Amino acid sequence: MKIYLEPIPERELKPLFEDAGKLIFGRIFTDRMFTMKYNAEKGWHDAKIEKYKSFSLDPAACVLHYSQEIFEGLKAYVSEDGRVLMFRPEENVRRMNRSARRLCMPEIPEEDFLQAMKELIMTEKRWIPRAPGTSLYVRPTMLGTEAFLGVHPAAEYLFYIILSPVGPYFKDGFNPVSIYVEDTLVRAVVGGVGDIKTGGNYAASLMAGLKAKEKGFSQVLWLDAKEHKYVEEVGAMNIFFVYGDQLVTPSLSGSILPGITRASVLELAADMGYRVEERAIAIDEVLEEISSGRITEVFGSGTAAVVSPVGSLHYKGQNYVVNNNQVGEVTKAIYTRLIDIQYGKAEDKFGWVCELGRI
Ligand SMILES: *Cc1c(COP(=O)(O)O)cnc(C)c1O
Repeated sequence: MKIYLEPIPERELKPLFEDAGKLIFGRIFTDRMFTMKYNAEKGWHDAKIEKYKSFSLDPAACVLHYSQEIFEGLKAYVSEDGRVLMFRPEENVRRMNRSARRLCMPEIPEEDFLQAMKELIMTEKRWIPRAPGTSLYVRPTMLGTEAFLGVHPAAEYLFYIILSPVGPYFKDGFNPVSIYVEDTLVRAVVGGVGDIKTGGNYAASLMAGLKAKEKGFSQVLWLDAKEHKYVEEVGAMNIFFVYGDQLVTPSLSGSILPGITRASVLELAADMGYRVEERAIAIDEVLEEISSGRITEVFGSGTAAVVSPVGSLHYKGQNYVVNNNQVGEVTKAIYTRLIDIQYGKAEDKFGWVCELGRI
């Protein structure tokens, strides 16, 4: 694919952030973005890296009314020796195309998608922070742009990629979070769109998130929509329960987002000698086994935090404290192995890391 690189006069470039350690997630964006359009006649066309700026959309654009929108989230890292790295980007490309199929949107050829991300990141490489735990967040997005108020798949689409430098997720140290188990509202149903990355899932989750925050919890743990019995996932993270040397995570039931971090933790943990199991886990079992001490640790997994220790669960007015609200050894070991691979520090025997070039 030929990508047109729009020149930007030097004086129009933004000043770089001053302290990478203080960057807040998703607030600052780089100088440029990738954009590409689709229509039935031309297919994907007009690929370019242009100045980051506002779009103009017709007020009748399909996405604004019927939410035909999908996205992805991944990161680029700089290793200590100055290599620009990405972690399993082809998995995000495949997942985005799966999301596209579910919402009747056009797929993007895998090679073109990867090329677009790589060229944009290398063009913007001065924006990749280098302090420990920092990275450049990559957000590919696709919208149905056709101006038409009928409900049908749009005939025109916009695909774009924006970049945002992010600071360390754990600003005050690698501390456990407290989680509110939502027993009334649900995030997604089997047969719906909970297993793809579409904005509507997040809109549907806002109210429970707010309720949890008001009660002093940082995240929501969702239960299945039918029986409110089985554990699904946390906000934008999948969840793992540690039973000594065994890791258990809910199986991909159809309403859970299949996280790439989740898949990586499963493979890595097995390689590190832990037993891993994917199965349906009832919230009653979880709470009982936390109380009995058979569940020794709980953690979430997702691109933003990589691994996030859970210190307590709150369900129907009761608190259940995990591992004395301390970060457990298994959580720490998996987190360390995974970030060391991502930052090019540890051996990458799975072939997960992709090198884009040098800083
Ligand atoms: C993106 C996302 C995750 C985590 O997926 P990763 O690929 O590990 O980043 C988990 N749950 C939801 C709802 C998500 O949108």
